[in-house]
Amino acid sequence: MIIAVDGPVAAGKGTLARRLAEHFGFAYLDTGSLYRAVALRVLRAGQSPEDGAAAAAQAAAIEPADLADPRLRDEATGGVSSLVSSHPEVRARLLAYQREFAARPPSGAAGAVLDGRDIGAVVCPDADVKLFVTASAEQRARRRHAELLERGEAVAFDTVLADLRDRDERDRSRAASPLKPAADAHLLDTTNLDIEAAFQAALTIVAGGKAP
Ligand code: C5P
Repeated sequence: MIIAVDGPVAAGKGTLARRLAEHFGFAYLDTGSLYRAVALRVLRAGQSPEDGAAAAAQAAAIEPADLADPRLRDEATGGVSSLVSSHPEVRARLLAYQREFAARPPSGAAGAVLDGRDIGAVVCPDADVKLFVTASAEQRARRRHAELLERGEAVAFDTVLADLRDRDERDRSRAASPLKPAADAHLLDTTNLDIEAAFQAALTIVAGGKAP
């Protein structure tokens, strides 16, 4: 069984996807971390995020240690990841790994939960359940801001909101796999839901019901 969880930055999809995977005993893949790993490699090699060929070569060279890098979740890494992810050749490089994970989840798990931007539309168009998780830009910026402060990154709220809007715009307007709900995705708006309520709503959807 494959559950696809897509949505814009800080909509709560990561937390939700992780909890769904835990609940069902499925393997979990945060596909954003793959693009973040490419971004870090590009930055460290002193290459330009605009250089698609260089970024694709970095995508081909990702190692497990890259996915555990403490700088993966930094705000700067996130910004560059949205630049490198716009190159079709980077996306193509990462596609096989994501599909393989979904088709044969590690450790013999009976299913997989993948979260990202294009899982339901491109990576796993045949996923059993597709969730598209959204929330207002202000609410997402509040969550992201709190998360950054907790990690010791002192960034102004207005900067977080502006960065988030930039990233949304880039993710939505790129030609290769733009961020948009798959036609058969269930929309889940978490603006007024806490983590527990969002999880319960997601469980209802997975069970074949409608979001409350
Ligand atoms: O979800 P996260 O913020 O970690 O993703 C980082 C960036 O990677 C996103 O802004 C997006 O540009 C890109 N991404 C993508 N497709 C995915 C997952 C992430 O383009 N499936």
